Amino acid sequence: PEGYRSEGSLTLGDIFIAVKTTKRFHRSRMELLLDTWISQASKQTYIFTDEEDDALKRRMGGHVIFTNCSAEHSHLALSCKMAAEFDAFLASGLSWFCHLDDDNYLNPGALLKLLSSYAETRDVYLGKPSLNRPMWASETLPNNQTKSVRFWFATGGAGFCISRKLARKMVPWASGRNFLSTSELIRLPDDCTVGYIIECKVGGQLIPNALFHSHLENLQLIPTSQLMQQVTLSYGVFENKLNVIELSGPFSPQEDPSRFRSLHCHLYPNTSWCLQAVGW
Ligand code: UDP
Ligand code: MN
Repeated sequence: PEGYRSEGSLTLGDIFIAVKTTKRFHRSRMELLLDTWISQASKQTYIFTDEEDDALKRRMGGHVIFTNCSAEHSHLALSCKMAAEFDAFLASGLSWFCHLDDDNYLNPGALLKLLSSYAETRDVYLGKPSLNRPMWASETLPNNQTKSVRFWFATGGAGFCISRKLARKMVPWASGRNFLSTSELIRLPDDCTVGYIIECKVGGQLIPNALFHSHLENLQLIPTSQLMQQVTLSYGVFENKLNVIELSGPFSPQEDPSRFRSLHCHLYPNTSWCLQAVGW
């Protein structure tokens, strides 16, 4: 996908894609992503994890970043990973930062199309709003008093993107150790902390976008005919049921429970294992 680059036009090569994972998901989730969408964006994609893994390194080389963050689902451990992603992005010099969870399918073409519609020189924070109202939090002040703050934030589980212009303004609250201290100030998860920094500290605004999806929404409601245009998709459990996109093949739900392999074959029909699946 690294195509000819005309003056001022965005290419996949301008985007830094960070995927957050943890040791127990290296086999069960990361291999599926490596076989599917990451194969189309491997130069741009970096995996942030908490345990060294030779098998993962063999497939991704220097693109596996061992964070030294603890392997827990705690606010602190997850904020530690977000800080590592943010710092690696700043160091990369690239124009856009996109964060994803390891249960997201990213369509690189759809992402490129979306980001191309925004000027790189603008402050841009794009994603799926986590709630249908702003988040309220209580910020701890230096004198031990508290202050009510309100802000919108993009669900980390649907993926979100930030322009470099905006990311540079976030540095005092988001780089290095600062991200952890900021997240402690409001005692909320990493994705909330990103929204808080952008809306309450920097003065930016979340631009809601309906092309990002997490497994906290009913994924069956996305019309099959529109799946190929979505920027991110997901799979998982929602209200005690398996929540996946609606797609009939080429793989059966038993062979491909997430439906990501089937979706990948619709997007990239010439993939060798897709041709085998349809019996060519
Ligand atoms: N995760 C992590 N450390 C953990 C648990 C989860 O880094 O101890 C990552 C996981 O790999 C995924 C994200 O956090 O990218 C969200 O985890 P999961 O999908 O299991 O939970 P959810 O919040 O979506 O219910
Ligand atoms: Mn998830």
